[in-house]
Amino acid sequence: MLNVIICGAPGCGKGTQSAMIVERYNLKHLSTGDLLRHEIESNSELGKEADSYISKGNLVPDSMIIDILTQAIDADANGNGIILDGFPRTVAQAEALENMLAGRNKQIDFFLSIEVEKRELISRLLKRGETSGRSDDNLETIKKRLDVYESKTAPVNMFYQNTGKLKKINGMGTIDEIFARIGAVLDSK
Ligand code: AMP
Repeated sequence: MLNVIICGAPGCGKGTQSAMIVERYNLKHLSTGDLLRHEIESNSELGKEADSYISKGNLVPDSMIIDILTQAIDADANGNGIILDGFPRTVAQAEALENMLAGRNKQIDFFLSIEVEKRELISRLLKRGETSGRSDDNLETIKKRLDVYESKTAPVNMFYQNTGKLKKINGMGTIDEIFARIGAVLDSK
């Protein structure tokens, strides 16, 4: 079993790389952003509440996202492993995840942090906004999301550095170059 977290600022290429990892290592891709957007599209009460945070570039409350993620992990309990995309985004979420997995005799193997320069992130997100239809891919919200990432999510890197699982991946270059760097880490297990 291989359990991986892929993390990095909005626009770092997590989604693209996750899809490639899933294919090569046969993992279940769990993107909390996708799970939330699914709730929004289905117009559920949860989705409505989540959108009030998401459209402003804020994180949804920890308790909401931990519940959603726990259900998704339990739904795939017997698979080859998981790749978590967009979770944990706060230290509280990281602690909740570690406790939840320990209670299931599982653990995270690697925390991949995809590192991309800020200028490049903004340009990628603006480009994606031309076609994504996402309420949060506009310049004002992008800047807010990058600030939120710095303040709330970067400390999660420290958390995983302390557990020895942090692997920094240079996220500049072609998609294949970045994937090769990730493969070198995952194949080391
Ligand atoms: P993403 O698709 O991962 O960029 O997520 C889009 C938005 O969903 C984020 O800007 C947050 O508002 C919300 N979101 C996704 N994952 C989380 C999480 N783990 N904790 C809190 N909010 C989240």
